[in-house]
Amino acid sequence: MVSGASLRQSAVMKALFLILFYVVVAVLPLGVAWLYGGPPRTLSDEIASGLGLMAFSMILIEFVLSGRFRAITSGVGMDVTMRVHQLAARTALVFALLHPFLYLTPSGVPRPWDPTRQLVVTAEFWPLASGIAAFVLLPALVLLAVGRKQLDFKYETWRLMHGVGAALIAGALLHHATQAGRYSAEPELAYLWIGLTGLACGSLVYVYLLKPLGQLARPWRVSHVDKIAERTWSIGLAPDGHAGLRFLAGQFVWLNTGNSPFSLKENPLSLGSAPGKGVGAELEFIVKELGDWSRSLSELQVGTRAYVDGPFGSLTVEGRDTPGIVLIGGGVGMSPLLSILRQMALSKDPRGVKLIYGNRAATQIIHRDEIDALVAEQGGEVTYVLSQPPEGWEGPTGWIDAGLIFDQVSAEQARDWLFVLCGPTAMMDVVEEALLARGTPAGRILSERFDYD
Ligand SMILES: Cc1cc2nc3c(=O)[nH]c(=O)nc-3n(C[C@H](O)[C@H](O)[C@H](O)COP(=O)(O)OP(=O)(O)OC[C@H]3O[C@@H](n4cnc5c(N)ncnc54)[C@H](O)[C@@H]3O)c2cc1C
Repeated sequence: MVSGASLRQSAVMKALFLILFYVVVAVLPLGVAWLYGGPPRTLSDEIASGLGLMAFSMILIEFVLSGRFRAITSGVGMDVTMRVHQLAARTALVFALLHPFLYLTPSGVPRPWDPTRQLVVTAEFWPLASGIAAFVLLPALVLLAVGRKQLDFKYETWRLMHGVGAALIAGALLHHATQAGRYSAEPELAYLWIGLTGLACGSLVYVYLLKPLGQLARPWRVSHVDKIAERTWSIGLAPDGHAGLRFLAGQFVWLNTGNSPFSLKENPLSLGSAPGKGVGAELEFIVKELGDWSRSLSELQVGTRAYVDGPFGSLTVEGRDTPGIVLIGGGVGMSPLLSILRQMALSKDPRGVKLIYGNRAATQIIHRDEIDALVAEQGGEVTYVLSQPPEGWEGPTGWIDAGLIFDQVSAEQARDWLFVLCGPTAMMDVVEEALLARGTPAGRILSERFDYD
């Protein structure tokens, strides 16, 4: 059996490898430019070129930080991957916007007697036009992503625009760099850009063409659709002619119900069921009504064809050899925690367990009888917290906040146990801070956010 220490070591190694991979790819074009570049120009010109090269390589890496590559998300988690994606996009944008304004060398048509392009920055139409197109498209893409919610786009429409926009920017930058660039005109760097752009666009082909093709051979059928709490549904899926899904408790998938696997209409959802039931067992999802798809679940028919892309995510307690686990959930964030609880019971996990589960109203609590039974079976404790309690409610009231964490979690548990958090962003921020203040090492707090914004 793999020990907890070696699993943790492997997670750390994966994270370090990913950081190394990012840094190497981001600075590789700079290194090639430095090796093969011509005679030096002013420092300002060199910085301008360097920023342009860095912006381009960072934009190309963004394609694989889109959250659909298991090797990346299982190493550092989906929300961390998306944060890096967002932060890197903003940084690349700043580099790209500064890039044209730092050149001190005059612009003009390249001189035939200046093969190293030392004397002028090109003023030719097409090489400049592709640069200007990328210069305009890039801020538009970033602004649309930052303001997506305010702009009231359908998620799928935005996703299509984001993918097409990113591919256009990559194409424009490839043209601009190799035609206008001083360093990128050198064959060594030009071939590197062609290779990296090919890989970036290839990742789109993989996600939107090859993966769906694979899903065609692994369809699922909706096996139940039940309303289990206020605005909350349980959806079951059974494999249709294949072995099923191998996953870890706490992971999530992208679920597509009733559309072609090539459709952009799919939603990330945590698996609420336990993997210990067997690879071919039915999957359960617990879904809160929020937007177009989740509000139409009352119309979803048993037998509807569905497709699953996954599993993804690192909200898993496998191999963590702490004496106990505290699960802290808010609302539908209970779903992955339920999967963990169910798996602990199935595998007769010897670790202690404590569950703190917050909701607005008692009518929102899901699978209460089962949760009580599972926690009791593990010899653990469960605390239900309500912000709008009914008359006669005897449990804690209000939001899950620092005061409640200090009441419910002993100093010893804070120090030694593992904490698994899933719920609204505000709750997670408060709980993470409270745990750190109570003495929990950051490495023993696992969390999954349902919203990256
Ligand atoms: C890792 C993860 C696990 C999740 N697990 C659950 C769960 O177990 N139960 C649950 O009820 N909710 C879960 N969510 C949230 C769930 O994905 C959204 O509530 C759902 O997609 C809303 O879709 P909609 O069409 O009803 O609403 P929309 O109005 O289309 O979407 C509302 C918001 O949901 C998010 N969203 C929608 N589609 C996607 C997509 N394809 N990729 C990324 N984000 C998207 C976007 O932030 C969007 O603004 C999870 C989210 C993530 C990221």
